[in-house]
Amino acid sequence: MTTSFFIAWACVLATGGILIPLLEWAVTSKQYSEYRIRTPKNYRLPALQKALNTNLNMLLSLLIYIAFLIYFGDTVIYAGWPGMVLLLGEVLAVLLLYDFMYYLFHRGMHHPKVMQYVHYLHHKVRYTTATESTFIHPLENIGGVALLCLSLWIVGPISGASFVVMFFIYQTANIMVHSNLVIPHPSWRLFGFWAEKHDIHHTRINYNFASIFPFWDQAFGTYK
Ligand SMILES: [Zn+2]
Ligand SMILES: [Zn+2]
Repeated sequence: MTTSFFIAWACVLATGGILIPLLEWAVTSKQYSEYRIRTPKNYRLPALQKALNTNLNMLLSLLIYIAFLIYFGDTVIYAGWPGMVLLLGEVLAVLLLYDFMYYLFHRGMHHPKVMQYVHYLHHKVRYTTATESTFIHPLENIGGVALLCLSLWIVGPISGASFVVMFFIYQTANIMVHSNLVIPHPSWRLFGFWAEKHDIHHTRINYNFASIFPFWDQAFGTYK
């Protein structure tokens, strides 16, 4: 594990830390109000509970990733530049496997018993904004992080650069699906698509379980 790898990864994490408040500001501002998918209702949850949950979840997932990289970093990540083709292949392989396993995991969380004790928390928020991307039960958080680590472990070793790019896409997707914003600009097309699909998940519940690739839902008949 090189220092440059950790610096690049820290930059990606910081990007997420900037993106969440920026999107939260945009979705609540008058300037972008016309681009909301829905106008968020007043939160039914105390702000302190939400802040505690989301921040502790971010800290928890960071600690798990760091522990994983300390113990398995040399097994799942190799040093050196892989070339663009291999980099894209490694990124896609990890994300495809992750999103497939996440699809099954997320669907499993909709089992009434798991919903009642774990996944209900995330679905308490019917009209999401970016901060809700980490408003989840700690067990769900641990499960999601474990799935990404498992995907890396199965597909790896991948290059440090591939890890950074893969993590950037994974983090960005998770934040953007909750943005509640569809801005009519070509650069927003994918983000708007993600946001609309996940909005359907939060409002109609039994559709769109995958978070990155729509075809897992298409394959299992849960796409809308
Ligand atoms: Zn769900
Ligand atoms: Zn969600």
